[in-house]
Amino acid sequence: MKTLMNKDALVEIVDDNCPSCDWAPMSVLYKIAQVPAHSVLLFSNRDDALAYPRGDITLGFCPACGFITNIVFDQSLNEYSQRYEATQSCSSTFNSFHQRLASHLIEKYNLRGKDIIEIGCGQGEFLTLLCDLGGNRGLGFDPTYRNGTIDLANGLSFVNDFYSEKYSHKKSDFLCCKMTLEHIDRTAEFVNMVRRSVGKQLDSLIFFQVPSVERILRELAFWDIYYEHCSYFSKGSLVRLFLHCGFNIIDLWQDYDDQYLMLVAKPAKTKHQGLPAEANDLEHLSREARYFASNCANKIDEWKRRIKTNFAKSHKVVLWGSSSKSVGFLTTLDIKEEIQYVVDINPNRQGTFMAGTGQEIVSPDFLQEYKPDSVIVMNPVYYNEIKQTLSRMSLAPKIMTV
Ligand SMILES: [Zn+2]
Repeated sequence: MKTLMNKDALVEIVDDNCPSCDWAPMSVLYKIAQVPAHSVLLFSNRDDALAYPRGDITLGFCPACGFITNIVFDQSLNEYSQRYEATQSCSSTFNSFHQRLASHLIEKYNLRGKDIIEIGCGQGEFLTLLCDLGGNRGLGFDPTYRNGTIDLANGLSFVNDFYSEKYSHKKSDFLCCKMTLEHIDRTAEFVNMVRRSVGKQLDSLIFFQVPSVERILRELAFWDIYYEHCSYFSKGSLVRLFLHCGFNIIDLWQDYDDQYLMLVAKPAKTKHQGLPAEANDLEHLSREARYFASNCANKIDEWKRRIKTNFAKSHKVVLWGSSSKSVGFLTTLDIKEEIQYVVDINPNRQGTFMAGTGQEIVSPDFLQEYKPDSVIVMNPVYYNEIKQTLSRMSLAPKIMTV
């Protein structure tokens, strides 16, 4: 990375090429140094959680396609192993979203008796849903899948590996890739690989789901920027990437309180399909990126002040949700003793420790004894679920949402 002079001297520009469209230079909109390279690995003791390798984040914005990426991302820090625990399936809110999404895809694209591949399938929850609800056959790829490479009796198989072209002989009517592309830094290289893998199967559909960067920029959601996510998409930058890599866009929408972007596409016979109207967001995005660059530091200071004030008054504050958002929140604010516990309903995460800042992860029941004064809800979509759980325990702490 070489920093160049910028004519209006308002933003730093760098000579890196955009990994989605190859344009250079990019503008820098955010920097944070030395954050944990992984967020949701299970650490059974605090020292390991504190000592986990760290990396830097420098977000670059591409003015040509709107893509935002960590231009100093170091892939060698990746550890997608079986101690990676990212499941959200302990939440009824999340499970009903998954059910609704699977039913929608099955109905709209007539996924019945079909061959389905899922890239980055985690522990296979969504693939199992697609197969159970539509009578499909599923093949899931994920190096974090815990049961190894396995063929199950009900038409489901899992391969404990990253998906690559060596698996392109596996037929897929529907190729699904949820919450994975944002972990990949060489985005066009990856989507081109998927395009080559589906080859001449021009009827085969692909479905991608990624977090939406528009909300992050608009809400100054610094907690949604963490090392594992090196790639950040808007509707437009996602569409432009898939058009660039030889796909036609079939559908594009947002879901889960507009937190997720969904795209359905199919291999294009010819290149250069037009851009759907809702993807024409470059000017707007560029404004939002500048807004984020100018205002995010204030938002960070505001949260630091709020937490330090509570600490000074000996108010007990806990975070609810030990996912990557919480790691992003705590490491950006550099919060250690000011918040001692993080609550999570996933029993696999309870008794482990937060990467980078070392808080112990506890079950909701622990709060009956701890009696917090305030609870910070890391994802507003779970507000009602959390409020009900607290009420059931006769607890009424102040609830703050990020
Ligand atoms: Zn670009």
